[in-house]
Amino acid sequence: MKIAVYPGSFDPVTYGHLDIITRAARMFDKVIVVVMCNSAKTPLFTLDERVKMLRESIKDLNNVEIDSFGGLMIDYCKERDIHTVIRGLRAITDFEYELQIAQTNKELSHNEVDTVFLTTSLKYSYLSSSVVKEIASYNGDITPCVPGFIADTLYEKFGHKKTTTSDLVDQK
Ligand code: ADP
Repeated sequence: MKIAVYPGSFDPVTYGHLDIITRAARMFDKVIVVVMCNSAKTPLFTLDERVKMLRESIKDLNNVEIDSFGGLMIDYCKERDIHTVIRGLRAITDFEYELQIAQTNKELSHNEVDTVFLTTSLKYSYLSSSVVKEIASYNGDITPCVPGFIADTLYEKFGHKKTTTSDLVDQK
């Protein structure tokens, strides 16, 4: 069985991540999306919230699982006998950092773990969790960026009234 892990902060998951997950799910028998909790970044959402948002977003993909981990990605892979990591590439600016991480993982794992890069679909190339959080903090429209229930949660976090489609339907 071909298994791959897709690690990240997912703070929160965006349509860019979901595009990568959907495409990876077609290439592998099983994809495990791993929410990493050892990032140097200070997340807006707790680990539990990020896991729950991902689970809800991928519930229609039956070969995708969500997990979380607080150590090195290569240790996660070693414990589960997994040899492939997926990462997404948006722009040339991602490349240098991603190449360094991929080479580090390959070295540290004694060539046991390889990284497969999926390039972003053009319509999501501008999307990042940070940009989405910034737009939401100013009450801007994030409906093209994240699923509706995540947009609602983000607006609530920043103390804004809900403005998503589900809310407009409620008001009718
Ligand atoms: P990290 O903190 O590890 O960078 P992220 O949650 O920001 O975690 O991203 C996880 C992975 O998803 C990274 O490989 C990142 O390049 C990729 N990614 C993020 N946004 C997009 C997008 N819009 N299109 C394609 N890949 C993306």
